Amino acid sequence: MAINLPGTDVVIVGLGAVGGVAALPLARAGLNVIGLEAGTWLAPSDFAPDEIRNNVRAWPQAVQKANQEIPTHRPNRSAPYSPRQTIHPMMNAVGGTTLHYWAQSWRLNPWDFKVVSETTRKYGPSRLPKGSTVEDWPFGLEELEPYYDRVEHELGVSGRAGNINGKIDQRGNIFEGPRKRDYPMPPLRGTGFTEMMADAAQKLGWHAFPGPAAINSQPYQNRPGCAYHGYCNRGGCHVNAKGSTAVTTIPKAVDTRRLTVVTRAHVTTVEVDRNGRVSGVNYLKDGTEYFQPADVVLLASYTYENVRTLLLSKSKAFPNGLSNNQGQVGRHYFSHNTGASVTALFSRNLNNWYGLPAQGVAVDNWADDNFDHSASDFIGGGNLWVYSDRRPISAAGMSTFGRTPRWGSAWKAFVKQNADRWNQAYLQKTTLPYEDNYLDLDPVVKDPLGFPVCRITAEFKENEQRVAAFIQEKMTDWFRAAGAVATENAPVGVMGPSTHAYGGTRMGNNPQTNVVDAWGFSHEAPRLGILGASVMGTSGARNPTLTAQALGWRTAEYLAKNWKQIVS
Ligand SMILES: Cc1cc2nc3c(=O)[nH]c(=O)nc-3n(C[C@H](O)[C@H](O)[C@H](O)COP(=O)(O)OP(=O)(O)OC[C@H]3O[C@@H](n4cnc5c(N)ncnc54)[C@H](O)[C@@H]3O)c2cc1C
Ligand code: SF4
Repeated sequence: MAINLPGTDVVIVGLGAVGGVAALPLARAGLNVIGLEAGTWLAPSDFAPDEIRNNVRAWPQAVQKANQEIPTHRPNRSAPYSPRQTIHPMMNAVGGTTLHYWAQSWRLNPWDFKVVSETTRKYGPSRLPKGSTVEDWPFGLEELEPYYDRVEHELGVSGRAGNINGKIDQRGNIFEGPRKRDYPMPPLRGTGFTEMMADAAQKLGWHAFPGPAAINSQPYQNRPGCAYHGYCNRGGCHVNAKGSTAVTTIPKAVDTRRLTVVTRAHVTTVEVDRNGRVSGVNYLKDGTEYFQPADVVLLASYTYENVRTLLLSKSKAFPNGLSNNQGQVGRHYFSHNTGASVTALFSRNLNNWYGLPAQGVAVDNWADDNFDHSASDFIGGGNLWVYSDRRPISAAGMSTFGRTPRWGSAWKAFVKQNADRWNQAYLQKTTLPYEDNYLDLDPVVKDPLGFPVCRITAEFKENEQRVAAFIQEKMTDWFRAAGAVATENAPVGVMGPSTHAYGGTRMGNNPQTNVVDAWGFSHEAPRLGILGASVMGTSGARNPTLTAQALGWRTAEYLAKNWKQIVS
C-alpha cells in the first residue's frame, strides 16, 4: 500500500537538463514544486579527470537506472533484435545528463521549424521523403527566440552571435535566425588545430565559426571560467565552469524555497482521477511506495522514460497508456543521425592533448536548407564540427588507415607516431520521423523492478543515408584542405538507443498526430505537461538540449501564467 503524501502544486518527474530548467520559472512564480529525481546530488569532488572511469566504465552514475533499463532495438518489425547495448550514458543525478554532457548549446535554424512548408514551397511536395510523418512545428523560431535567450543567460552560454536583429556578424554563424542580443559570454578560446581548420574552411569559401557552449569562457554568476584541462567528455566539471542545471537553475529554484528536491525517487506511473485528469504520481524510494498528489505533473525523464511512463500508466480513461487514446505515444520517434563520422590523418602533431569537445569550430554551409537542394536527392544536411579533445585510451584506439596491421610492433610504432596526428569530425545530420520508426514496450525484456523496458523499432531511411554520404564528402574536402594525408568514413550505423532521442510525445496542433499541444500540454489528459526532446518533431543538424530547455522554460512559464485556467 503506497504512502499518501501531502499534495503540491506541481510535480516534475526528473530534474535533469529540462526538468531542472523548468523548475525555475515555476518556483519564481511562487508555485510549490516537488522535483522527484531518480538519482542523487553529486558534488564537484565526484568528478575526476579519469578516462577509464568516465569513458570506459560510464561513471559518474549516482544511480544505475539508465543502465538497467536500456531500450532494446530492432531495425524494423521483421528484423532480428540488435545486440543490446551494455551502457547507456544518460545520467541519473540532480542535474541529469547536463552534469557530464559536452554542453554544446545550439539553437535550431529557422528551416527546422518549417520543413514541410519550406520544402514544398521551394522544391515541391514530392521532395518530402516517402513515409515521413514530419510536420511543421506549431510555431516558428521567432516564438522560441525569447526562451532560447532566457535559458542562455540563466545557464551561461558562451558563443558568438551571427545575426542580431537581422544584422549579420561574420564572426558568428551567418546562417542562424535572428536573435535579439548576443550570448552572455564570448566563445571558448580556439586552439592551433581549430584555427588551422578555420583557415582551411576559408580557403574553400566556407564560413567557419566557434560553436556555442554552456561552459563559462569567463567568470559568470559566481562560477569560474573554463580552465581547458579536458577529460570532461562524459565527465563532470570539478570547478563548476560547465553550466549543468545542478549548479545553475536548480540551486536558484531551491533558493526561492518553492522547490523541494526528493532524490532516489523512481517514478513508476502517473495517476488520473475519475475524470481522467492527472492527479499525481507513484514513486518508489528505498523500497517504499509513495503516492505524491499534485495539481499538475510535468514529465521530464528523457525521451525513453517519458514514453515508457505514459505507456505504463493505464487507467479506465486511458486503457492504452496515458494520453494515448489516439495511439500517438511512441510515434514519430527518431534518434539523431550522428554516426557516419570522418576520421583524418595528418602528417604533423595537432597538439590536441588538452581541451574539451565543446571547444571547436563549425561550418553550417551544408546544414538544413542553407544551400540549394534543387539538384540534390535529399532534403536537409549536416553541421560540420571539429574540436580539440584527445585522451590516451581513445587516441591509442585510432585507425591505422590501412597502413599497418592492428597488432604487434608495427602497430605500436604507428600509434606512437600518429596518436596526436588524427582527428575525428562529429557530424550531426537532419533526421526525420517516419511512419514505421517508433517506440513501444518490449514484450519480453524487463528492468529490475519488473517493468518492461522501451523497445525501439527504427532504422535510418534513404534520406538520412544520402545526407550522410553528402556530408562525409564535404567533411573530407575540409580535412583535405587542411592538409590531411588520409581520411576514412564510418558507416551510418544502427538506430539504437541514443543520447539525442526525439519524438514519441510530439508537439503539434493536431491531436490526431501529436501527443502535446503547442504549449507542451497533453491534448488528452488535463494537467499533464511533457518536457524534453520527446516533444520535438525535427532535429535540425545540431544537439537538442538548448531547444528542449527553451521549450521547457516556455511550458513552465505558460503554466505559471495560466495556472487558474489549467487547474480549473
Ligand atoms: C556524453 C553526452 C554528451 C552530450 N553532449 C551534448 C551536447 O553537447 N549538447 C547537447 O545539446 N546535448 C548533449 N547530450 C544530450 C543531452 O544530455 C540530452 O539532450 C539532455 O540531457 C536531455 O535532457 P532531459 O532532461 O530530457 O534528460 P536528462 O538530462 O537525462 O534528465 C532526465 C532526469 O530524469 C531522471 N529520471 C529518469 N527517469 C526517472 C523516473 N522514472 N523517476 C524520476 N526521475 C527519473 C534522471 O535520473 C535524470 O536526472 C549529451 C549526452 C551525453 C550522454
Ligand atoms: S575543461 Fe573546462 S569544463 Fe572541462 S573540467 Fe576543465 S574547467 Fe570544467
